[in-house]
Amino acid sequence: MKEPSVTKQSVLNIGTLGHIDHGKTSLTRAITGVWTDRHSESIKRNMTIKLGYADAIIKVCRKCNEYTVGDTCAQCGGKPEPFRRISMLDAPGHETLMATAIAGSSVIDAILFVIAANEQCPMQQTKEHLMIINVLGIKNVIIVQTKVDIVGKEAAIAHYKQIKAFVNGSIIENAPIIPLMPNLGINLDVLLGKIVDIPVPERDTTSDPLMFVVRSFDVNKPGSDATKLVGGVIGGAIIRGTIKSDDKIEIRPGFKNEKLKKDVYEPIITVIRRISSGTDQLDEATPGGLIALSTEMDPSFTKADSLVGNAVGLVGKLPPVISSLSMKYHKLARDDLPEQRIVENESLILGVATATALGYVKSAKKDTLEIELKRPLSIPSGMKIAVMRSISHRWRLTGYGQIV
Ligand code: ZN
Repeated sequence: MKEPSVTKQSVLNIGTLGHIDHGKTSLTRAITGVWTDRHSESIKRNMTIKLGYADAIIKVCRKCNEYTVGDTCAQCGGKPEPFRRISMLDAPGHETLMATAIAGSSVIDAILFVIAANEQCPMQQTKEHLMIINVLGIKNVIIVQTKVDIVGKEAAIAHYKQIKAFVNGSIIENAPIIPLMPNLGINLDVLLGKIVDIPVPERDTTSDPLMFVVRSFDVNKPGSDATKLVGGVIGGAIIRGTIKSDDKIEIRPGFKNEKLKKDVYEPIITVIRRISSGTDQLDEATPGGLIALSTEMDPSFTKADSLVGNAVGLVGKLPPVISSLSMKYHKLARDDLPEQRIVENESLILGVATATALGYVKSAKKDTLEIELKRPLSIPSGMKIAVMRSISHRWRLTGYGQIV
């Protein structure tokens, strides 16, 4: 048994992939007690990358060596002790889920790959998700075989063999496959044990900190006394470095100055008053689970997720704000999409870290794209960018790129 490592901030970010009706949401709920599909309505209206996330503390009963997220051990009824805090990341839809996985790849440490036993394996979406796992090179993958209770033992075993054949030759050919009935809690302990086995990655805690905003909000009730207003809150994932309470920070590109006719963004400089992870307060935060920063900034800046996609760091230490970029484009092998080259003047949707940005192709030569961004971004070079094209009036993930 490894040493207990329960920290106030999660040590592992686990993404979920899997066909749309294969039970990702109930799996996430079984682990965290939270539904993460609360953004599905907003996704239907516009193509915005919205990362859902929830923390869970995996506990262990020392007597029985049994893992649980509950308060009692299923074997002996004893009280398990906290062992590891994890964050589950999820995104709704199929195209957005894949785009989010690529855009957010710098914060995803492991993946639960959900495959339902009541359908042939692989389904089209399942095939595409394996392709994404291969593209991202994520080796810490646990395959979760869901809905085994619907099909019965014989069919579940046959389906298990289909999964084995499907992943054969891929980077996850040796990934564990856990048959699970999340609603009944069956095998959840086995899955939690496998999650605990995933090594915590080495983190860069000493570089200049860089965080991307996943969510931003105003915690004041409407009509609050102006003298008692609390500053804006931003939630996000730290890519590198350490952020401390009382740090003076800069947020880029910042807020859009609505008074000006042109799109002008102004950086925000503020001070961190409090760092929290769930209900716990932290003195400092590092790469790992998502955290919330309570700041002194005008809460109107943070209203309704308005700062999502912004970069946060120490003053003057953020990547430059760019309004155009040059990108090496890699096309994904999707047999459901027509073979068409990206052309000049085409509009694209780019997913970069937690930002979704509209871009226009200024030039497309071989696999190098020059793109003008509709809104500026503060991003370091080398980050993976998800590229979505409008095909038959739908935004489809066609490839990914890297800023050169
Ligand atoms: Zn026990």
